[in-house]
Amino acid sequence: MNEIRPGTLPLLSIVVPCYNEEEVLPETVKRLTNVLDNLIGERLISGASRVLFVDDGSRDETWNLIEVFNMTNKYVTGLKLARNAGHQNALWAGLMKARKQSDIVISIDADLQDDVDAIREMVLRFHEGYEVVYGVRKSRGTDTFFKRFTAEGFYKLMQKMGANIVFNHADYRLMSRRALDNLARFEEVNLFLRGIVPMVGFKSTSVYYDRHERFAGESKYPLKKMLMFAFDGITSLSVTPIRLVTLTGFILFVVSIAAGIYAIVDKLVGNPVSGWASLMVSVWFIGGIQLISLGLIGEYIGKIYKETKRRPRYIVETELEPQTVDREDPR
Ligand code: UDP
Ligand code: MG
Repeated sequence: MNEIRPGTLPLLSIVVPCYNEEEVLPETVKRLTNVLDNLIGERLISGASRVLFVDDGSRDETWNLIEVFNMTNKYVTGLKLARNAGHQNALWAGLMKARKQSDIVISIDADLQDDVDAIREMVLRFHEGYEVVYGVRKSRGTDTFFKRFTAEGFYKLMQKMGANIVFNHADYRLMSRRALDNLARFEEVNLFLRGIVPMVGFKSTSVYYDRHERFAGESKYPLKKMLMFAFDGITSLSVTPIRLVTLTGFILFVVSIAAGIYAIVDKLVGNPVSGWASLMVSVWFIGGIQLISLGLIGEYIGKIYKETKRRPRYIVETELEPQTVDREDPR
């Protein structure tokens, strides 16, 4: 069960990573304010609940907007990273800051693709005793066929490789403070949050929502970044790819023994210059396999290299505090 003192309401922080989101931010603030107003009105969360926008080194007006909203909207706080650290690191920065003052934290993207109405349902699940609530997409109707196809393939591949991730769940989720405090103990620099959150454990459930199109602006995950993200996810959570390489090596070994026997028999039978084509094919084939294997091993070594350096995941430039604290709140 959660650790809220009896008679008090849980303080909710909504963490929103933002990278060049000036076009959507005003609408995001409006909708999240509305959600918080209603939840506070229903006495489901504390009046001191807030929204924490993490500016991930945006180059547009995102941070200026956050500062303005911080002055004018009692819920809005901000955290500015010194440079672009990437979605996962920005999210991490927000979660780690928010967990200190909150009982529950919900992470959501700035672009309003994830239905904000699911927030209420997540909070209700928390009141029922769940400490991790995954937002799961009901349909991918608004995604392009290509994105749907690649995303589905990705989730299936991940599961096959033994990584325990929730199907069709991205980074829209609720976590209790206790779950976050334990998440903080995962020190890997190669962050793939949706892969490590299930490792934390605690009572968890899912809520389902319809995924919308981006409200405005364009995706910050073009194909190249998306593929790299998927590859990173697989190699940080699973050693299956490297085992497959070993397996391929064994299979090729067996095949080459068979080919060797064939060559000897062929020679004994008295065939003069045969086998040129098969030789060429196998040289290329084995060369290819070797390069792939080396690359894959390099990928893991690169990950180890990054981890051993223990570089910070992000650097904070500015932190904003809430401007108007609700003094009448019972907490
Ligand atoms: N984002 C970020 N840093 C980055 C890239 C993206 O903080 O380097 C944020 C972005 O502002 C958005 C979220 O991560 O709130 C998800 O990005 P996006 O919507 O572009 O990804 P998609 O939904 O297309 O996968
Ligand atoms: Mg998006």
